[in-house]
Amino acid sequence: MTTFSFEFFPPATAAGERALWSTVRKVEALRPDFVSVTYGAGGSSRDRTVALTRRIAAETTLRPVAHLTAVGHSVAELRHIVGSYADAGIRDVLALRGDPPGDPQGPWVPHPDGFTHAYQLVELLRSLGDFTIGVAAFPEGHPRSPDARTDLRHFVAKCKAGADYAITQMFFRAEDYLRLRDRAAAAGCETPIIPEIMPATDVRQIRRFAELSAATFPEDLAHRLEAARHDPAVAHRIGVDHAVAMADRLLAEGAPGLHYITLNRSTAALDIHRTIQASRSLSVR
Ligand code: FAD
Repeated sequence: MTTFSFEFFPPATAAGERALWSTVRKVEALRPDFVSVTYGAGGSSRDRTVALTRRIAAETTLRPVAHLTAVGHSVAELRHIVGSYADAGIRDVLALRGDPPGDPQGPWVPHPDGFTHAYQLVELLRSLGDFTIGVAAFPEGHPRSPDARTDLRHFVAKCKAGADYAITQMFFRAEDYLRLRDRAAAAGCETPIIPEIMPATDVRQIRRFAELSAATFPEDLAHRLEAARHDPAVAHRIGVDHAVAMADRLLAEGAPGLHYITLNRSTAALDIHRTIQASRSLSVR
């Protein structure tokens, strides 16, 4: 079965909240397999993640997955957060290490009573009960890994610690995903790896995201978006067409699902999803 799912982030303003909920309701009508809510770097944005995840569980028919990072948390705090999710009936967690707050590329400093790597959070969740656990995967390798072999070894170990599935970082070339998937399988890792689909409709924004995540942004796509930067409708079409072509190829090659980044707006992610669904229902007739 092929899954499809959508990612939201907790908005900081009342206007952002209204836009998010309008998107949540449109996504709900599509009956996705799950939706996920990102976890902030600290403070109030984290409280908003917990509140939003609980509200989705209580007020919609959607299955929310809570992202959780080890940044700045003791193990006791992580247990408490996981316990409060379980109390609200939420048993799906994406277990992440996270990045240093302030400077994501800065040195990683663990909490003195906390964790250093995501696999430890996976082990904690496994020990706490019946959770469905996701982890992060990096088609081009995690930027902090010294080489591809070490990166793969740590990814496989994290999966074997008890992950049910992985979701990738954004990427823009199908080959990057397929290489990781095949190398993980060759290393004996059977954990399904769900590709994350980022609609590339705004060249500046995507360049910034790609830089932060160390994903390669293809120059030809960047040039075409740059040329269309004064025509949002054309830029939208370029980004949607690129994502649809890549997603079609990934599904044809056996990807287990698609996880769409929405940025809390519905247009691009839903256009991509609807186009893919339409072409798939035609091809199975
Ligand atoms: P890890 O698996 O711990 O890997 C981090 C680095 O440590 C890698 O280089 C890895 O190879 C290495 N490593 C792993 N195990 C070992 C070991 N045993 N010994 C030595 N080295 C090891 N961040 C947020 O803050 N909030 C979010 O909501 C969020 N959501 C995300 C969702 C997805 C789908 C993805 C792909 C990433 C997300 N991130 C989020 C970003 C993520 O937290 C960062 O990319 C972080 O740098 C890595 O997290 P990880 O869970 O992969 O860490």
